[in-house]
Amino acid sequence: MQGADLDSEFFVLWRIGHSKSLRTRRENLNQIPALNRLTMPKYKLEYIWLDGYTPLASLRSKTQIKEFASFPKLEQLPMWGFDGSSTQQAEGKNSDCILKPVAVYPDITRKDGVLVMSEVMMPDGKTPHPSNSRATIPDDPDTWFGFEQEYFFWKDGAPLGFPEGGFPAPQGPYYTGVGYKNVGPIARKLVEEHIDTCLAGGINLEGINAEVAKGQWEFQIFGKGSKNAADQMWVARYILTRLCEPYGVDIEWRCKPVLAPFNQPLDWNGSGMHCNFSTKYMREVGGKAYFDKLMAAFNQYRDEHIAVYGPENHLRLTGLHETQSIDKFNFGLADRGASVRIPHSFINNNYKGYLEDRRPNSAADPYLVAGRIVKTIQLVPTS
Ligand code: ADP
Ligand code: MN
Ligand code: MN
Ligand code: MN
Repeated sequence: MQGADLDSEFFVLWRIGHSKSLRTRRENLNQIPALNRLTMPKYKLEYIWLDGYTPLASLRSKTQIKEFASFPKLEQLPMWGFDGSSTQQAEGKNSDCILKPVAVYPDITRKDGVLVMSEVMMPDGKTPHPSNSRATIPDDPDTWFGFEQEYFFWKDGAPLGFPEGGFPAPQGPYYTGVGYKNVGPIARKLVEEHIDTCLAGGINLEGINAEVAKGQWEFQIFGKGSKNAADQMWVARYILTRLCEPYGVDIEWRCKPVLAPFNQPLDWNGSGMHCNFSTKYMREVGGKAYFDKLMAAFNQYRDEHIAVYGPENHLRLTGLHETQSIDKFNFGLADRGASVRIPHSFINNNYKGYLEDRRPNSAADPYLVAGRIVKTIQLVPTS
């Protein structure tokens, strides 16, 4: 190092010693390359992806430690790889799959933690893997989505709070219920931790509530654009699943995990992932004529929608428990037994605003749900 450099580094160090705020100290420190390297935080990058299991993919994740001067931006995150032969995404002989970062969120549960939502790519790094549902869906940042994710906390083979080998008191008091007898001792702690972790990560979680069955809950995620909204939903699912681990609790995403046997007087609620949606045109122009055309398209593509609205949906869309049967399509004002519910505000506003598709189930892939809704909307002319 040259004498002049040494002098100036000494001067920088002197300034650091005499600077009042932490911020000016850090700014001065950043001017010394050698010191900067010493003080660069090591971030824990948790790459998250969907495996290749069908009909229900699971979340997978692994950590990579990497230094950055400050919280990394998406463009700074490298591609990574994993053994696809262990996730039903490749043959053992040629097992490499590539992870392409697509969204990044701070993770307050770890020091310098980063959640990195990723797409799975073929070894060339360019071709989406067949299991990559995100890569090919249509997107539009002006289409907004509100997902209502219902789910069961699951412990020792049954919903959290079910007595061993039996059933709790019938449904009734559990929905939005308060009190130990309704929600037990753990669930509220988990949903509170979930809210805080999502919000600190910049995930747009909009609310939570206890649901109709014991051990069943809901959270809502709002996002603009099909990929953005669904990225947030997958990461919110990831956070919830992970924070349940120390409690010996899992999340049951399947839509009808408690099936009443014949003659069983108790029938238990299924889990949905209602998808509320609005385009710029629906919010700003709308009108009954456009609404009718839109619903005609939803009716025409009923099977294509149902195909991506989650596995086993015939067990849930029965016409009971505030659902429409799987083989029917209808819509109705404030009708929770309809396929698509029209909120009062929509009619009061001259058919402007958002609609609720109640058919997607709790295990559906939000990429495919949002993508299909955008696809059908794009088939309907606005003039
Ligand atoms: P429900 O009465 O069906 O239980 P919730 O309050 O649980 O309704 O969920 C309503 C959802 O609608 C929220 O996720 C919210 O973000 C979403 N939402 C509200 N306005 C819009 C809009 N303009 N476009 C899309 N989604 C919306
Ligand atoms: Mn809801
Ligand atoms: Mn609900
Ligand atoms: Mn709803």
